[in-house]
Amino acid sequence: MAVTILIPTPLRPFVDGRGVLQLEATSVGELLERLTVEHDALRPHLFADDGRLRSFVNVYVNDRDIRQLSQKETPVRPGDTVSIVPSIAGGTAVATELPKLSHEEILRYSRHLILPQVGPAGQRKLKAARVLLVGAGGLGSPAALYLAAAGVGTLGLVDFDVVDKTNLQRQILHGTSKIGTSKLESAKERIHDINPNVRTETFETRLTSENALAILREFDVVADGTDNFPTRYLVNDACVLLGKPNVYGSIFRFEGQASVFYAKEGPCYRCLYAEPPPPGLVPSCAEGGVLGVLPGIIGSIQALEALKLILGAGESLIGRLLLFDALRLQFRELRLEKDPACPVCGGNPTVTELIDYEAFCGIGAAPAYAGPEISASQLAAEWKRNSALVVVDVREPHEREIAHIEGTTLIPLSELPGRLGELDGHAEIVTHCHHGVRSMKALEILRAAGFGKVRSLQGGIDAWSVTVDPDVPRY
Ligand SMILES: [Zn+2]
Repeated sequence: MAVTILIPTPLRPFVDGRGVLQLEATSVGELLERLTVEHDALRPHLFADDGRLRSFVNVYVNDRDIRQLSQKETPVRPGDTVSIVPSIAGGTAVATELPKLSHEEILRYSRHLILPQVGPAGQRKLKAARVLLVGAGGLGSPAALYLAAAGVGTLGLVDFDVVDKTNLQRQILHGTSKIGTSKLESAKERIHDINPNVRTETFETRLTSENALAILREFDVVADGTDNFPTRYLVNDACVLLGKPNVYGSIFRFEGQASVFYAKEGPCYRCLYAEPPPPGLVPSCAEGGVLGVLPGIIGSIQALEALKLILGAGESLIGRLLLFDALRLQFRELRLEKDPACPVCGGNPTVTELIDYEAFCGIGAAPAYAGPEISASQLAAEWKRNSALVVVDVREPHEREIAHIEGTTLIPLSELPGRLGELDGHAEIVTHCHHGVRSMKALEILRAAGFGKVRSLQGGIDAWSVTVDPDVPRY
């Protein structure tokens, strides 16, 4: 078995476009010598004229920097992985020419400048920094506002949505006057009003395996504010492959999580969760709800961690998972270890390029719960003809208080298995919930229990209020 060498994207053109190579060697020096003999176009990128490794190229044996080991004499064994990690696109630590501050900026940032941990040098680092926010929603909102106010020179934003009324309860970057307009346009206007010194770079697109590396590569720090698993794994893997820190936050109902995933110095998201939960198991915010202040707290923590990474100040959340419980107002912290078998940042990674994350997360495959559906207008017509039709509302009682369809029977999904006796096995049954996900699970339960004529209302009560009865409020 040979030694595996991971070639970073910027150097791949010099090794025939390959990301992974295998060579036999007993030391790092011998390995790099063989590599550059086989691929001589690579040599000037790794070595200075005097034969020394260039200072902006770091070499890691497995997870250890050879500068902390025996430099080029560091031994390598079969099965080891050697990573070549050049500093790319400035990088916060290697930016040599920091931009100067104008008089206006000196005044604006005066409360930063008198902090010894920031000072003029730190403020110039912030001005030189480029932070990418993936998502301009609940988490991206406070992060964008604070990073702009703090004077981060360039903010990149990736989003493809328009501002919707249901966003405004938590997405404080956007206002009522912006409903129906692009989130990025809304964000740009607000950011420039807070701080006209900030340059925005907007990417009005869904982040995909095709565009992620090109977009992320140009930034120093990535803040992940996404609300879905495919994008979260995509951002993680792209950050690991590019050697970027990924400031992570996630929220659900009253609970939040935050960490900094930086594979060079600690674990990545996949070390924590190697695989996503099956689709449908974890409800989205649209399905499960989220308290409006919660993303404000978690997104602000993401902004704080991004600033600390740029400034090199304090102790970052690398290797720690912060858990926040808003109802109990409690922060807890878990230590995160790097997983040596991590498929993307471990010693023998199996993920060496971006994959199909939709498929990885089981989306697009057969849904976990399948069954016949009925549209809202079809249900209205059939119900009129057949008053014996039983429509079961499987939502929670507090949701029924918000909106309900007249004539339905409330049996929450969690209680359904124990209350099957309340339903007539010969009746035609239609299950409904908010958007049509839980009602499919209910359908599955009923069919498993022998109910033969069950259908699920497609799009739930939301579709009912849109297409049948506008007097039922949407939520
Ligand atoms: Zn990992």
